[in-house]
Amino acid sequence: MHVASEPGEAHRLVASLPRPIGFVPTMGALHAGHLALLRAARAQSASVVVSIFVNPMQFAPGDDFERYPRDIERDRDALENAGADFLFVPSTQSMYPPGFSTVVEPGAIGESFEGEIRHGHFRGVATVVVKLVNIIAPDALYIGQKDAQQTAVLRRVLRDLNSNVVVRVVETMRERDGLAFSSRNAYLNPGERVAASSLHRALLALYESLASGSDKATAIANASKVLDRSARLDYLDVVDADTFVPVDTIRPDTFVVGAARFGTTRLIDNLWVRS
Ligand code: AMP
Repeated sequence: MHVASEPGEAHRLVASLPRPIGFVPTMGALHAGHLALLRAARAQSASVVVSIFVNPMQFAPGDDFERYPRDIERDRDALENAGADFLFVPSTQSMYPPGFSTVVEPGAIGESFEGEIRHGHFRGVATVVVKLVNIIAPDALYIGQKDAQQTAVLRRVLRDLNSNVVVRVVETMRERDGLAFSSRNAYLNPGERVAASSLHRALLALYESLASGSDKATAIANASKVLDRSARLDYLDVVDADTFVPVDTIRPDTFVVGAARFGTTRLIDNLWVRS
């Protein structure tokens, strides 16, 4: 596996890899979810490129940028074992050199839910992903359903900016009790870890309640009772998968979305209703 840390060097070296190139952007602290993206990319590409970059621009003030888990040695071994061809690990300085001033602003789709709670989050995500896509020039981008609003934002941004990169969304990988794998799960103490699995159960309850004909307000009220009593709920809702605009009923192409805090750890999750 080749490793590059400068955008120019990565761009030059990746250009000689066999196509199609599948690209998996990550913030590291790799887990089974990231590896599922890698497997999907591996199955559909001649070359697989992974990036690890904890992007300061997507963390709002008060977010967990400083304490975000970082373990580059372990990640490197995991990627090597999983068959990645190329790893791009840029420094913050090389991504945002002095004089950097351009941002990608996704608009309304990035201002609700996660964007409302984490101001500027999707501007940071969109900006870094457009930069990474320009550096790597992949044929396909592999992203996780786990970050549902991010998938909607990135599809919108890449379509709006006439990118030819194909976006492939990979289903969420979960622990046995339903908790979605997340680098942030490492923050949970044992009690919080047990409580955190109730977020998935609350989403299932919301889905079942709506599917059996309850109105949305009642369904959300009932589902929020499924959440562990120690949790602080940010939101539970149902949204259109493309626009992230709330909808009143379950129908094909919707996400049942939720976010809650367990101790100081904020987790998000969703169910993808496809048909
Ligand atoms: P992150 O390192 O958290 O920025 O995530 C990098 C990519 O992995 C994103 O596209 C995420 O949506 C995806 N991802 C994170 N958790 C999971 C999971 N549990 N299952 C599948 N994909 C995931």
